[in-house]
Amino acid sequence: MASVAAIPASELWTAIMSAVAPSVSETTFSSWIETLKPEKLEDRVLTLLAPSKFHREFVEEHFVPGLEAVALENTGEPVRVRIRVQGAGEIPRQRNLRFAPPAPVNPIESNGSNGSNGHTVSVADAAAEANLNPRYRFENFIEGDCNSFARAACLAISDLSRPTLWNPLLIYGGTGLGKTHLLQSIGNRVLSVRRNDGIRVRYVSSERFTQDFIQSVRSQQGADFADKYRNVDLLLVDDIQFFATKERTQTEFFHAFNALHQSGRRIVMTSDRPVHELAGFDERLISRFDSGLVTNVNPPTYETRLAILQDRAKFENFPLPLDVADLLSTHITSNVRELEGAFAALVAHCQFGRVPATLELAQRVIQEKTGKRTGRPPVELIQQTVADYFRVSQDALRGKTRKKEIAYARMIAMYLMTEITEHSLKTIGGFFGGRDHSTVIHARDTIAGLRKTDEVQTVSALNDLERRLSLGPILRTSM
Ligand code: ADP
Ligand code: MG
Repeated sequence: MASVAAIPASELWTAIMSAVAPSVSETTFSSWIETLKPEKLEDRVLTLLAPSKFHREFVEEHFVPGLEAVALENTGEPVRVRIRVQGAGEIPRQRNLRFAPPAPVNPIESNGSNGSNGHTVSVADAAAEANLNPRYRFENFIEGDCNSFARAACLAISDLSRPTLWNPLLIYGGTGLGKTHLLQSIGNRVLSVRRNDGIRVRYVSSERFTQDFIQSVRSQQGADFADKYRNVDLLLVDDIQFFATKERTQTEFFHAFNALHQSGRRIVMTSDRPVHELAGFDERLISRFDSGLVTNVNPPTYETRLAILQDRAKFENFPLPLDVADLLSTHITSNVRELEGAFAALVAHCQFGRVPATLELAQRVIQEKTGKRTGRPPVELIQQTVADYFRVSQDALRGKTRKKEIAYARMIAMYLMTEITEHSLKTIGGFFGGRDHSTVIHARDTIAGLRKTDEVQTVSALNDLERRLSLGPILRTSM
């Protein structure tokens, strides 16, 4: 291909699209890639138009580095891909801020103390300098049993004004469980509080560290490399398992590590496996890790998955009905990245098809993502079965009426949910027109009491209902 300067944007974009197509699914391609329109190619920046803000963010998060790599391959020159929302003013790209235009300085943020060198630094500039993505923050990290200890350790190490025993800190856990999010949250927190104190933070993936190291050896710029990684107050190294087979890089990392650690600077690392499984690691390095704190993140429970989805939907300003959120959280269980992917797919279906988020659509997304055919969500099935049994409507069961038979049926349904599902009392209340968790406790305790004393009505109803429900395929397969 000719020099980038001479190619029209549409031609470059067509070339990129055909190179990308074989490596992504058809749905992904038609939902996310094909829908981008080339606007212009100037100064090696290819600007593409996205139909919505959500679309832009999703593409930036998932595809831009890939698109840039393909562009480089095609043209032999580095091309930056920037996404703009169609019809909207220029919105600076959030990731890779190093190349973004200077962000507007937030007057509140920048009113902090003056730096040691006498001038203030904007959060965005500080984050870019540290190689951090400002999207990752403690504020949008949902806490659950699966991550609360790791989160607490990360918060503690972010407070540079207090000594910490947990240095170095190593967080390990499977993919998509929030390690990078936590790691970068530390950096962003430190910068938001201390950026004007001359504090230096650096986030680096172990791959990037390796590349920088190799580059420094080649170009004999060892001093720059050392300055970059040994001369910081907080070093955040992501995915250190990649160092396993790279002896020289590992030795270099060991030196950087020691230099920092000995001078009391802080180091936080992540790994996709526990320390003792980091085969190929120098024993000296392993024992250094052990001198601090090693903690893990686990797969999220149902409640955490639900909370993450709801938080996401709120952030995107996307109306997500509780039963749809429930279905997705019940079936997408592996990790948060998958859950976000499912949510993104749901939003895409809704936006492109101009339809609301329904259970049917969620079922389709789940099938696309997991191959699983899902029935109705357990909660809905319980409500339906109880409503049928007592010959009341499902709406009445969820509604406000206090008529005796309905209130009784409602208590039975709530009781069954506490018994059968993993949902919290608050979530169960949510399925009954947003009732309070204390109402659910009352229902549960009342029916549990009647189960001991009321043979005629309660015991027989429960036995019958439980039999009917246990025959329902959903309860067995999905929970
Ligand atoms: P890992 O580094 O462990 O592979 P990431 O930190 O990249 O995982 O997380 C994958 C995605 O899930 C990211 O978009 C992240 O923001 C999101 N995520 C993970 N855990 C949480 C959480 N507890 N709350 C909110 N978002 C989360
Ligand atoms: Mg990661």
